[in-house]
Amino acid sequence: MLSSSAIWQKSEWNQKKIFKRALKYVIFYLIALAISHTFLAYIIGISEVRQIVTEPATKHIMGLMAMLLFSGAFFVVYAFFREQICIVACPYGRLQGVMLDKNSIVVAYDYVRGEPRGKVQKNELQKTGDCIDCKACVHVCPTGIDIRNGTQLECVNCTACIDACDDIMAKINKPLGLIRYASESNISTGKKTNWFSPRLMAYSAVLLILLGLLSFTFMSHSSIDASVLRTPGQFYQENADGTTSNLYNFNVTNKKNKPMKLEFKLMNQSGEIKIIGNPSLTIPAEEEKRGQFFVVIPNNKIPASKTDLLIAIYGNDELLKEQKTTFMAPVE
Ligand code: SF4
Ligand code: SF4
Repeated sequence: MLSSSAIWQKSEWNQKKIFKRALKYVIFYLIALAISHTFLAYIIGISEVRQIVTEPATKHIMGLMAMLLFSGAFFVVYAFFREQICIVACPYGRLQGVMLDKNSIVVAYDYVRGEPRGKVQKNELQKTGDCIDCKACVHVCPTGIDIRNGTQLECVNCTACIDACDDIMAKINKPLGLIRYASESNISTGKKTNWFSPRLMAYSAVLLILLGLLSFTFMSHSSIDASVLRTPGQFYQENADGTTSNLYNFNVTNKKNKPMKLEFKLMNQSGEIKIIGNPSLTIPAEEEKRGQFFVVIPNNKIPASKTDLLIAIYGNDELLKEQKTTFMAPVE
């Protein structure tokens, strides 16, 4: 028996079929584009992806190539490889086998009810089970397996076999659900599945711990990435007003989705910070700012030729980070 999709595949090419096929591929490619953009945003950041999309292609040849490569790969998977990816490449099926036990609810064939399989018999002495061995469940299976042989690695839980078998059961006036979502223990004993099994309890506990860790990581996540380093090759400048200054480079990334007004303060030394030039210290959302500043300390307040310096970085008046660095001064 051919499935409806197989009949459609074999049907004659006409205007309607060409239109439907073209529409299908366009939709597949649009989905592939959406996924590849999301995937790339995950790797290089959403602002980079926005630049690649909005700026001339010549400025982002590599980004454009990556987009085309990823969207092409996703499109080929959707349009041609499909379940072959599930069978051959995806590790989930292999991992799934490790996690299953007799209480796991899966797409399953009720062998107690179905066996011995065979054609419907008029002779009551030759009693068979409910499975009439029509193989409809095998024909519709996208991965080509026979679910009557038990749970298999290739099963992608699409439930096509459930629908196909229910159609047959309806036609021969038997109860539906010969293939259904059920556990091995449910089928073998006929009792309700104890779905909250010890294994599920253990997995739930591990999941709760992981969720807790994830929440903690999110909550303790800094809203900036910042570095403040003494400018290489520059030691110190002795000023005529009795102070010494050191030059620093700073690089701050605003990870928030709103602008951030930046401010630097000395924490463990008296002195001042003089930003070079007159740059705006407001960083737009999800962007970075680089610049330089002098730390100027009166000579009589400098304890040693090399002093540990603690610089506080404030964003919108909130202390976000304390950055350690050093301050150099003439040897006394
Ligand atoms: S579709 Fe149902 S009745 Fe037909 S072979 Fe499969 S399990 Fe048996
Ligand atoms: S659920 Fe889908 S993949 Fe699994 S056996 Fe049934 S038809 Fe095949």
